[in-house]
Amino acid sequence: MGLLERSDAYWKFTGQCTQCGHCTQACSSLTAADMTLGDIAQALLEAERNSASSDELAANIAQNGQLVQAVRGCFFCTSCKNTCFAHNDVCDLIYNARVDFRKLGLIPRETYTSVLVDEQWDIFTAYRAIHGIGYADLTRHVDTDVAPADTDFDVAFFPGCSLAAYGPELTREIFAAVEELGGKTTMLDSCCGSSLRSAGFFDRAEALCDKNSRELADSKAKQLVCVCPGCANDMKRALARTGVDVEVVSLAAFLNAHGFKPKKPLPETPLCISKSCQDRDGTYLEDTCEALGIDAEVPTIFHGCCGAGGAVSAFDPDRQAQQADEKLSFAPDGSTVVTMCPTCTYTYAYRMMSNPRNIVNKHYAELLFESQFDWNLVFYQLNSMWYGEYGAWLAQVFA
Ligand code: SF4
Ligand code: SF4
Repeated sequence: MGLLERSDAYWKFTGQCTQCGHCTQACSSLTAADMTLGDIAQALLEAERNSASSDELAANIAQNGQLVQAVRGCFFCTSCKNTCFAHNDVCDLIYNARVDFRKLGLIPRETYTSVLVDEQWDIFTAYRAIHGIGYADLTRHVDTDVAPADTDFDVAFFPGCSLAAYGPELTREIFAAVEELGGKTTMLDSCCGSSLRSAGFFDRAEALCDKNSRELADSKAKQLVCVCPGCANDMKRALARTGVDVEVVSLAAFLNAHGFKPKKPLPETPLCISKSCQDRDGTYLEDTCEALGIDAEVPTIFHGCCGAGGAVSAFDPDRQAQQADEKLSFAPDGSTVVTMCPTCTYTYAYRMMSNPRNIVNKHYAELLFESQFDWNLVFYQLNSMWYGEYGAWLAQVFA
């Protein structure tokens, strides 16, 4: 193996890229770097050729500010891929580049220690432990203090990290609806590992999804209901990889299929849907509009990343804020922005704490169910846990 672990991916990408430049025009990060995706692959290979050791390679890459910008400034939004006639896979390229960056020490450890979601403690599990949020009674397919493991489930519900941590009442209300509509249900209280990928731990992210697949196989659930399109995509890939025959559906599609009726009327304000960048072909968007009972042609739809993707905030916090502002700037005064991924909801809420707007920020599940996120409480609790009795422990765990 050469100095770059993932050089095969860069050679492959270089061979497929015609340097047409369309991807650069589609992306503010690539524009800032003045690079195409193919340039990234070539620059990495050139740095390897000019280096005699890993230390020298790390120094050569670190000196190339354009390359660092292009690799670490990527949201994985795939806007560029949509412009590439060759359909070159940006995620494959940048995930591999992140692996090499991390191995070369070019992604500082302190930027990812709190999001290693395959370890015992990450920011979500710490938040839940400190604030008494748990689901031992719902994770019925695993042995817990509450009950021994059960099996023969019809459905497994996968709320994802953000919803399970920051919306416990909403999580439980959705779980109850899924069980009422779909039969015997358990909760997969895990993560899809996207933060691991962003930090350059691609194999660990896949291993986490594969572990989720095995849990699903043991539960005998026939369907997996995911709230976030990103979780759904990752679990589809993992189930295919591990040969586990479980159908993955979005929460919206599941509710539609079972004739779910929203628990309350929609707000009368204009609805602006914030399309998840994980929703490549718009299927999840269609399902979401149907669940809300709105014509997909009617609401304003925002494309692109909310700012949370790719852990860009760990590299350039201002760019995450700019991206959130850019997306929200399309929402007219008095409108309701409707997100499809709970992490987008979190990201907009966080941004609007410091840059308030006259808009309402809701995940679509909040419009269908009674329970709501309480972002003021969440941000207060997130902030306060670093002080007082748990502060020293957190600092040590995430050192
Ligand atoms: S995935 Fe998005 S942020 Fe990354 S290079 Fe493509 S357009 Fe730019
Ligand atoms: S759009 Fe595709 S072919 Fe064109 S420069 Fe970008 S990656 Fe290469």
